[in-house]
Amino acid sequence: MELDKMDENDWKYHGEGNKSLVVSHLQHCQVLRLLKFPSEDSAHTRQTAEQAFRHILNIVDYSKYVMKPLLGEKYIHSGEVVKLPLDFVRQLSLKVQQERPELRCDKVMDTFSGCGLCLPNLTQLPLHHLRDHRPPICVEIKPKCGFLPFSRHITKECKRKVCRFCMHQHYKLANGKWKRLSRYCPLDLFSGSKQRMYVALKNLLEEPQNNLKIFQGGELIFSCKDDAKQQPELNDLIQHLRPYFPHNNGLYNGHQPGKAVLNEFIQVICSALLSGGDSNRSGEPRKVHLSESRPHCEASPFPRDLLRNGNHGLPKDSVLAKILQVQMLDNLDIEGIYPLYKRVEQYLEEFPKERNRLQIDGPYNESFMDTVKNCLSEDDGSVEYAVGKVHQYRVAMTAKDCSIMITFAPCEEDEEHQLNLEKPRFTYSVSILDLDPKPYEGIPHQYKLDTKIVNYYLRSTQAPP
Ligand code: ATP
Ligand code: ZN
Ligand code: MG
Ligand code: MG
Repeated sequence: MELDKMDENDWKYHGEGNKSLVVSHLQHCQVLRLLKFPSEDSAHTRQTAEQAFRHILNIVDYSKYVMKPLLGEKYIHSGEVVKLPLDFVRQLSLKVQQERPELRCDKVMDTFSGCGLCLPNLTQLPLHHLRDHRPPICVEIKPKCGFLPFSRHITKECKRKVCRFCMHQHYKLANGKWKRLSRYCPLDLFSGSKQRMYVALKNLLEEPQNNLKIFQGGELIFSCKDDAKQQPELNDLIQHLRPYFPHNNGLYNGHQPGKAVLNEFIQVICSALLSGGDSNRSGEPRKVHLSESRPHCEASPFPRDLLRNGNHGLPKDSVLAKILQVQMLDNLDIEGIYPLYKRVEQYLEEFPKERNRLQIDGPYNESFMDTVKNCLSEDDGSVEYAVGKVHQYRVAMTAKDCSIMITFAPCEEDEEHQLNLEKPRFTYSVSILDLDPKPYEGIPHQYKLDTKIVNYYLRSTQAPP
């Protein structure tokens, strides 16, 4: 990328989340991730160019020095900070404006700092042979928290039985964030049981909200509808997927019914989620049993009498095991973290200069990572213990909010396999994205939100007397 010759016509709108907007290059497998901020922010509350640069550098460092060692080299692409011409950024912002979904327009793209993050486009496969007429399919899953909290600091019993995602659904419905409940339960996805994972993925397809997106050749083909009342079109998705699962078992002239296509599609996603990350590995992987607590969520629609079936536990190197392991660094729960946060706050009030030494706002380097790794297991009353646990909690929060990208395309020797009447084979790659640090200042908000979600859940599910 030649930074002095940037042309907005080479880029197009790709997608956005709550914090950033992403554009993709029309020819190269690259994206630019640009920060957003609330549109009501005035010039003097806005970050300076210098602060924006530091902010993005923090994001890259956090990914490189903290999340990558924890989640594994092969899944992470940290990207690099780029300084873009302001004129380019302004033109780009005008160009993408009409493509943006309405529900995201409460924030505007940063057109002041010229700072951005350059990343590989993970919806594409860079080495995919263009000979095949079927472009790569990419499935993006935001899995959310995959375990039930086990901390002794928990005050409400329901938190040990119903997972955060399922409780949060009721709160979001009440607040108008979504119009229908999702039946997806993260505990099913992280179970390692093929049956439960199948049900979890099926439920994501039926109600994707912001937990599932599907791309074909880099273009978004399936996601939640902007109009929250409208259901996503599963039949359209099946039409897109049909050419990837053409197998000829005599049925319907090689045209499988839609259900069979979706079924095979879900199987491919499951295998990728349980694999070591790319299609070039094989062998029966070792299983890990990460969860000592109750591994099933009482709000999940998965039939309870089937829970005993199938094999459980996640393969040790699988993307799900890696993410779950990092999520579980949150072993005190927000109820145990909040008092430690207050201990840190009190200390900083007395010794404000210590904020830097304790690396509260970074830099996110090896020394920050040492604090995360070497945190004491018992509270000795020190501020060091409190800071270590708070750091660990923030790292876990990042892992609870990341996305998994599974990108696959038919193997070259596919035609041969079809002749052999075998199942189609795919080459695939798995990555993790959206690994931004979660702010230290966000902890009081998390504490209040947790209380609200739990209280609302109890009120809405307990039958009136
Ligand atoms: P969130 O609200 O989930 O925190 P965010 O604002 O932090 O989101 P991202 O999740 O990083 O932003 O990016 C927004 C969307 O852009 C993603 O959901 C994904 O679809 C797309 N995207 C981000 N990075 C890449 C990439 N490297 N390759 C392809 N697509 C990407
Ligand atoms: Zn659940
Ligand atoms: Mg995201
Ligand atoms: Mg994010």
